[in-house]
Amino acid sequence: MHIDHMGGLGMLAEQMPVYMSEDSLRLYRRLAAMGDIQVLAHENCIGIPYGQSFSRGDITVEVLQIDHDVIGASGARITTPDGTIVYTGDYRFHGFHPEVTRAFGETCRGADILITEGVSVSFGDVDMLSLTEPEPNIPTEADLQQEMAAAAREKTGLIVINPYNRNVERLHKLIAAFGAAGRTLVMDPVQADYVAEFYPEDPICVYEKTLNGRNVPEHFRVVTLSEILDAPNRYVLQLDYQDQYALLDLKENVSVYYHMDGAPLGSYEESYQKMTSLLEYLGIPYEYKGLGGHARPYFLKWMADTVAPKTLIPLHSFRPEQVNSERAGQRILPSEGQTVVLERGECRLETA
Ligand SMILES: [Zn+2]
Repeated sequence: MHIDHMGGLGMLAEQMPVYMSEDSLRLYRRLAAMGDIQVLAHENCIGIPYGQSFSRGDITVEVLQIDHDVIGASGARITTPDGTIVYTGDYRFHGFHPEVTRAFGETCRGADILITEGVSVSFGDVDMLSLTEPEPNIPTEADLQQEMAAAAREKTGLIVINPYNRNVERLHKLIAAFGAAGRTLVMDPVQADYVAEFYPEDPICVYEKTLNGRNVPEHFRVVTLSEILDAPNRYVLQLDYQDQYALLDLKENVSVYYHMDGAPLGSYEESYQKMTSLLEYLGIPYEYKGLGGHARPYFLKWMADTVAPKTLIPLHSFRPEQVNSERAGQRILPSEGQTVVLERGECRLETA
């Protein structure tokens, strides 16, 4: 349910069925309810539980969970009369569930084709075949939780966070970590809705100044500006970029602004400069605490080595040619307009 994978859903013809994991569909329905999608909601979506499959003709697709920084992420193993195709989707090993990503690779061992993402080798030179171990100190979701808990205890004023709101599990865990440190996480109503959908037992607090006319369920607690001003060290405020104006009321009381994979994501976005400029103008310290959702290069190689496919096809990268494995029989780097043909387990490229 990241925009680069689903942003076009609302432009598909209505009769086109779209399969996704059951959790993705659950999130997609909330995105649609909250107006957090492009164009229109696609109505013809079918949710498949992890580990289950669906068939169209003689082709069967298993939906296999993988760990990424969004709830619902999955890859697929597609079984056809001519062979097996595995597509990873986006994945990582530094999330809450590295064992899920490992299990994906092990389950899919021996596929005829592995299609893998390669985002982390997009920038800079990487000699993947020479990598024998992960780089040291790759920050994990668990590390981030600990850092946030320490900051919650040490900072004397309000902490503001800008996370990616579809990484629902991170927010769920932050509610508990901040709570244990004596702080209440206060969210905007969209973020609160996503957390409440997947974690209905969590105590949900929303900030009055980010309601923007929305009604919230009775059991959400609405926290006011004056409550925060009375005890800024008792709260953490999750603030979406579109609500950044709310900092004007709070600026004297903010200890730090943690940018945690929320929008705008990086300096390549025009609004990034606006975000940091406003913080500078308000005198609010900015710290980048993003983790990203993509496997580091060593782990891309681990995935390809583990699946050991007859044919490796890297994509979702500015430099897919940097994704490689000695255990793949061959590698194909298709270019636009070419067709990948799988016939009796053998794979080739055809140019029209
Ligand atoms: Zn992606």
